[in-house]
Amino acid sequence: MKLLKMRHHFAIPVFSLLLGISALSCLSLAYAQSKADEKFPTRPISLIVPFAAGGPTDIVARLIAVPMGKSLGETIIVENVLGAGGTVAANKVAKAKPDGYTLFIYHIGMATAPALNDKLAYDPMKDFEYIGQVVDVPMVLLARKDFPPNNLKELIAYLKKNEKKVTMANAGPGAVSQLCGLVFMDAIGVKLTTIPYKGTGPAFNDLLGGQVDLLCDQTTQTLPFIKSDKVKTYGVTTPKRLPSIPNIPTLDESGLKGFDVKVWHGIYAPKGTPAPVLKKLNTALKAALSDPTIKARMDESSIDIVPMAKVSEQGLKDHLEKEINRWGPLIRKANIPD
Ligand code: ASP
Repeated sequence: MKLLKMRHHFAIPVFSLLLGISALSCLSLAYAQSKADEKFPTRPISLIVPFAAGGPTDIVARLIAVPMGKSLGETIIVENVLGAGGTVAANKVAKAKPDGYTLFIYHIGMATAPALNDKLAYDPMKDFEYIGQVVDVPMVLLARKDFPPNNLKELIAYLKKNEKKVTMANAGPGAVSQLCGLVFMDAIGVKLTTIPYKGTGPAFNDLLGGQVDLLCDQTTQTLPFIKSDKVKTYGVTTPKRLPSIPNIPTLDESGLKGFDVKVWHGIYAPKGTPAPVLKKLNTALKAALSDPTIKARMDESSIDIVPMAKVSEQGLKDHLEKEINRWGPLIRKANIPD
């Protein structure tokens, strides 16, 4: 009994001591974390691109990685993680360590993938931090050079007659080339055979080589080939013609009323990346997008850098939510398969 009492007397100070130690270690952990955040970055950062090297997303990523890295004082290494229209990479980033050393660039697919793929293992609105929007890129509906139809009207008539024979490339389920193709096929009432690639870089190479008939792709990599007539171009996917190719009509003016697909892009980090680190990354992204050489290169491809207010956490998050609400019901109504 006496012994028990003695133990009890000792228990209170020991318990308080333990509490004190754990509070101290929490404090010192928090201090170490804030010191690490202050010093960030101290090693190269990886920017994950969810499509093949040389394609439109890859080109934009490599363009901004250099000035962003310069302003952070560390290299940004572009890493291509391929598969399933970008969702393999998105899943990898959602589960990566949230320390600022893993970043992710993804386009409109961040908003369309949930409706295109019921089995996504991540939630675009819950599993990421939002660094900012980047650029908006128009698309063009293209065919191999020797494809018979010469304009959109002829193309529609041709596809209705040859539905079973024609192939259309895309970058997999969730890719914007898939979305654009689906919107197009839905609008004219045909179902073509689609060929998925790991990105529109390789898909466009096959279009140039004549191995596939049609492709809806961004202007990022296609403009020089459109201008030099290496492909057939039926129209741009935005409501207005593009200053760089003023002779190419819009799909809307050629009869597909309301056709409007523009490819927005955002930069993300895994959920839980510390706020001071996100702030540094956002500042570096803004600096990169304000760089005149980047602006000139984007202009060459009819790519619009977004207004600076959208290069922000809220700008990207709000836009993503709006786009999920815009595309989700449309995709589900069109009953597009996984
Ligand atoms: N443009 C592609 C897409 O269709 C992806 C890419 O290769 O950048 O989503």
